[in-house]
Amino acid sequence: MLVVMRQDATQQQINDVVDAIDALGFEARPLPGSQRTVVGVIGNDGRVDSTRLEALSGVFRVIHVTAAYTLVSREHQSETTIVTIAPSVQVGGTNVVVMAGPCSVESEEQIVATARAVRAAGAACLRGGAFKPRSSPYSFQGLGKRGLELLALARRETGLPIVTEAMDEAGAEMVAELGDCIQIGARNMQNFSLLKAVAKLGKPVLLKRGMAATINDLLLSAEYILAAGNNQVILCERGVRTFDPASRTMFDLTAIPAVQALSHLPIIADPSHGTGQRDRVIPMSRAAIAAGADGLLVEVHPNPERARSDGPQALHPEQFASLMDDVRAIAGVIGRTLARAPGTAEARVG
Ligand code: PEP
Ligand code: MN
Repeated sequence: MLVVMRQDATQQQINDVVDAIDALGFEARPLPGSQRTVVGVIGNDGRVDSTRLEALSGVFRVIHVTAAYTLVSREHQSETTIVTIAPSVQVGGTNVVVMAGPCSVESEEQIVATARAVRAAGAACLRGGAFKPRSSPYSFQGLGKRGLELLALARRETGLPIVTEAMDEAGAEMVAELGDCIQIGARNMQNFSLLKAVAKLGKPVLLKRGMAATINDLLLSAEYILAAGNNQVILCERGVRTFDPASRTMFDLTAIPAVQALSHLPIIADPSHGTGQRDRVIPMSRAAIAAGADGLLVEVHPNPERARSDGPQALHPEQFASLMDDVRAIAGVIGRTLARAPGTAEARVG
């Protein structure tokens, strides 16, 4: 860390900064320049809390040389982490993992029909919310535990592993029992007590980017899970809010290569929430695979007009099947293949 002094800082102010660094247990090394002095902080293993130094008079600004996160960084681990949702469904390797299904689990008929359709089209996981974080308290909140049971039934029928959201600790325990991967939604990305609790449940975690979160914020939230002993974390870009109402959110494709440079954790893309409109989901799904995403999270509903949540962005099953053909072809161009659902011939052999 470097403490940059103001041009008019006095020698006494520089001495005070040196004393404060000493008091923090680090070595201070003043580097006088022609216009100002910079004081280097030496001997810190990780990032130092700079607030005490920033508050001292004569300090212009503090520059961090070390990132605030450690365990999730690519400097800490150069190979990409492989997250195993099921034996043939691994995120972060050469396979691209497509997770598809409705926004909300609504009924047995709906979830089983969707699971069959997305599996036939080549999806490797079934997604579907039983606990729904809705902006309005009057909107459908999900079927809760019954929804998880219906997801487990759909898994028995199709073999597809289940990715589903937990909104609180009690729900997370139920999700860990009945599901295969625990989703932390955008609104809970910085619910740190939930992150710590979920980390301990022994299941992979799908961590979605908050809608006003920077990439640094996303990686710090993932750091909570790794620091609690669970490295099975998949990151997810799902769009951020901007000034422009033309799309539900601004789907940040750049986040994919940006995160891959900074972190060894796999990152998938959710063009459904990232655009909010069915006709935009298909091109942005193609683009995300071309950009190197390790997978996709796509909302599909057998009858989107009647969906109890996120109908406008849900693909019709036939649209999803045609998207999967595109995704397969694009993945092939960049040397990747689609992960197979457990139980398919290829999955058994591989
Ligand atoms: C969802 O996946 O249905 C969902 C609510 O996503 P997000 O948390 O990204 O809004
Ligand atoms: Mn949704």
